[in-house]
Amino acid sequence: MKKVTLFDTTLRDGEQGEGISFTVDDKVAIAKLLDDFGIDYIEGGWPGSNPKAVEFFSKMKKAKLKNAKLVAFGSTMRKNSKTAKEDENIKMLISSGTPTIVIFGKTWDLHVREVFKISLDKNLALIKDSIEYLKKQHKEVIFDAEHFFDGYKANPEYAMKVLATALKAGADIICLCETNGGALPFEVEKIVAEVKATFPEATIGGHMHNDSGCAVANSLAAVNAGATHVQGTINGFGERCGNANLCSIIPGLQLKMGKRVVSDKQLAKLMSVAHHVAEIANRQLSNDKPYVGYSAFTHKAGVHVDAVQKNSVTYEHVTPESVGNDRRVVISELSGKSNLISKAKQLGIDLSADSQGLKEVLQEIKKLEHFGYQFEEGEASFELLLRKHAGKYKQVFKLIALHVINDKHDHEQELSVEATLKIEVNNRVQHTVADGNGPVAALDSALRKALEKQYPCIKDICLQDYKVRVLDSQDGTEAVVRVIIKSTDGKNVWGTVGVSTNVIEASWQALVDSFEYKINRSR
Ligand SMILES: [Zn+2]
Repeated sequence: MKKVTLFDTTLRDGEQGEGISFTVDDKVAIAKLLDDFGIDYIEGGWPGSNPKAVEFFSKMKKAKLKNAKLVAFGSTMRKNSKTAKEDENIKMLISSGTPTIVIFGKTWDLHVREVFKISLDKNLALIKDSIEYLKKQHKEVIFDAEHFFDGYKANPEYAMKVLATALKAGADIICLCETNGGALPFEVEKIVAEVKATFPEATIGGHMHNDSGCAVANSLAAVNAGATHVQGTINGFGERCGNANLCSIIPGLQLKMGKRVVSDKQLAKLMSVAHHVAEIANRQLSNDKPYVGYSAFTHKAGVHVDAVQKNSVTYEHVTPESVGNDRRVVISELSGKSNLISKAKQLGIDLSADSQGLKEVLQEIKKLEHFGYQFEEGEASFELLLRKHAGKYKQVFKLIALHVINDKHDHEQELSVEATLKIEVNNRVQHTVADGNGPVAALDSALRKALEKQYPCIKDICLQDYKVRVLDSQDGTEAVVRVIIKSTDGKNVWGTVGVSTNVIEASWQALVDSFEYKINRSR
């Protein structure tokens, strides 16, 4: 049985995604990541259309790949070129120096007649001449049959003739492209099976777009029907709704369909590869991405958490470690005892199942959540709460007084804010004042001034994000606000939460938690 080969086109089709642009160095970095990860073919771009691709291929001549073959992409020879040898596109493809070349050709008669404006026979001749010439240059040739599925639905006889022509000319792989992304998995499976039956010896590939949300399903359906070559991009990056997401296809093939495409060790890098490429692309991956999202193995409902701890199969379709992800438990109103015990354990705090401490924490959380606290984003505040109950908490200071003064005069553009703070730190009273462009910034500066000498570790803290949410008022009188602050010390990021009817009070709580968290952790 043929091995299924993986073909990545993040550097070409992926870069077609709106808002994605890679520098040449980005592309080289991604190519190395993909090579390490076990991808068989890495497509670098279209040298005929893009000077950046030319530069990339020239840089890659020096960078040795361990596993993967580098691929250049282009079209079949132009209709006006006399021979393939003289065609500018084909010349560029060869000069890129890659061992493998993808050329795409038209398969849908509508495109040949109306867009290309040539006869159906002329189209076949262009495909034949281009592939034959590339084969003479000792290149491995992948023929991308553009619009294959729409073409097949419109004129199956011609679409099959295109494939037969490519194979006869020597194409090593015929890749069926679902260019418009509209086909559904059962159609793909049926059509690929028909191609497989017509050309049983051929290596068949699939290249799917995600316009109906089925690109991953279509890719897996193609393999199920006999395809042994899969094209896609990391995270499904690509034009319109994106390409087939290799980060979902690879674990699907390997963990569910018994097709070994990478080693177990490489598969365990999946999450890291997905996030690394997203970072280079400057794209935030949503938490609910299958396999690689932060929430992919996150359990919230108490019954689920309880069951997963007894046997993870109960609510997990694969093990998180197999794809390099982690099981997480979030704290919420739904959580029962087992969430808490598990969370405490992760923090190294022992709360046994029937202890008084556990009951108390549980009650307090329910009360706080009822008031508007939410610990999913405020995990550090939650840890402080647990520490208090477990006797692992040190109070950093005692507040004596706090004043925030807002000041605006009619000739001034902006409101000025001044915060005055009087606190007791290790039996000494500190009285500080600071200003800022808002109350949180002013309080933050005043608190730093008061604590910095005795707790130098707080110098590293930097406030990253500040969110205020107005909650529905419970009794129809005063609205309650919830403030979430995200802080970082350069290494870790933590969230703290404060809730009050007064936004300054809520901000103060979240701010104090952030400093206390860092100081308690540093002890
Ligand atoms: Zn494509």
